Amino acid sequence: MAKKRSIDDMILTNKRIFMRVDFNVPIRDGEVADDNRIQAALPSIKTVIENNGKLILASHLGNPKNGVDPALSLKPAADRLSTLVGQPVQLAPDSIGDTVEALISDMQPGDIVMLENLRFHAGEKANDPEFSKALAKNADVYINNAFGACHRAHASIVGIPQHVSDSGAGHLVLKEVQYLENAIADPRRPLLAVLGGAKVSGKLGLIRNMMPKVDGFLIGGAMAFTFLKALGNEVGGSLVENDLIETALDILEMASEQKKLFVLPVDAVIAPWAETGVNIQIVPVDDIPPDMKGFDIGPESVAMFKNHLKTAGTVVWNGPMGMFEIPEFSSGTFELAKALAETDAVTIVGGGDSASAMKKAGVASKISHISTGGGASLEYLEGKILPGIAALPDA
Ligand code: ADP
Ligand code: MG
Repeated sequence: MAKKRSIDDMILTNKRIFMRVDFNVPIRDGEVADDNRIQAALPSIKTVIENNGKLILASHLGNPKNGVDPALSLKPAADRLSTLVGQPVQLAPDSIGDTVEALISDMQPGDIVMLENLRFHAGEKANDPEFSKALAKNADVYINNAFGACHRAHASIVGIPQHVSDSGAGHLVLKEVQYLENAIADPRRPLLAVLGGAKVSGKLGLIRNMMPKVDGFLIGGAMAFTFLKALGNEVGGSLVENDLIETALDILEMASEQKKLFVLPVDAVIAPWAETGVNIQIVPVDDIPPDMKGFDIGPESVAMFKNHLKTAGTVVWNGPMGMFEIPEFSSGTFELAKALAETDAVTIVGGGDSASAMKKAGVASKISHISTGGGASLEYLEGKILPGIAALPDA
């Protein structure tokens, strides 16, 4: 993909900078419970402030159904940002309109105003040109620093850039795209994809797009059972997508034709149901009783996957190896997470649950890149063009 115009090449001083950020963060008891995405936006926020721009931040939060929903106010995010940058971040009462306009016209260079949740207006998701124009009215320059929203063709992502004199990508978007693109286009080899999570169906597009590019796949999570069943194993009551058995066989055939490694688990942690404290057993994957279900990969599989990881030059991981939210079924994911942290490979983690698994395993800081956009990184790896990236001018 062509390089995109960067925030570093833009004139920011004294300009009103509309920066789309992804502050769609978990809020608990009126406070930000995980400020990863806010932290990830800081480099570009600081760049604007240091260059004496007037910074107008905009984001969505959650999915308000009927206009304004006080529970989905961006106030907690504005407060957290204020703490992180050590200066006031004023929350505007809305994202468009006269009050907001007045507030922005009073801004001094270096000030930060955060607009209220964009999705309080239906025009955001509908990509209504009138809403885009109303947003653009208060801006000279547009910067997209919201990688996690780049797969959405919404007003603040694809609409506004058409109505401002200059637009470009923030550091977070540039970094995410660079890691994902390098992994696909010019990886240090061997390139291994570690895939897991609940469903094959959710990862089919990724498997198909990455098949010609990778050297191999390591498959865990519930999705492994669809492949295992397709190969004739008794997988008991494990989660299987029966309508995808044929597809799974096609994928296995494709992998063997293209001489790609396609590693499935050999043992599983099984239980009658998924619950903390439940009795577990470890069995070979072809020996799961009908009344039992596989909720994690077993220790032999972990050892085998780890050996493959040691050889890798690049690892892309999407989807946990088991139901890691429950301690009894977390060791597959956590053990592999630790192995990932220890390799010299370039390591990239996409997927919201995978990212939180890396944090829980305590290895997040040792991963080369953890994507802030689960859906966006998945679509990128599926080979799709992200509308938010396409909407930005080339460098
Ligand atoms: P990501 O968000 O990283 O893309 P997914 O959303 O695809 O990951 O999948 C994550 C979910 O998959 C987790 O909630 C986890 O509990 C579930 N999961 C993983 N392995 C199993 C399994 N063997 N059985 C049932 N659910 C599983
Ligand atoms: Mg998920």
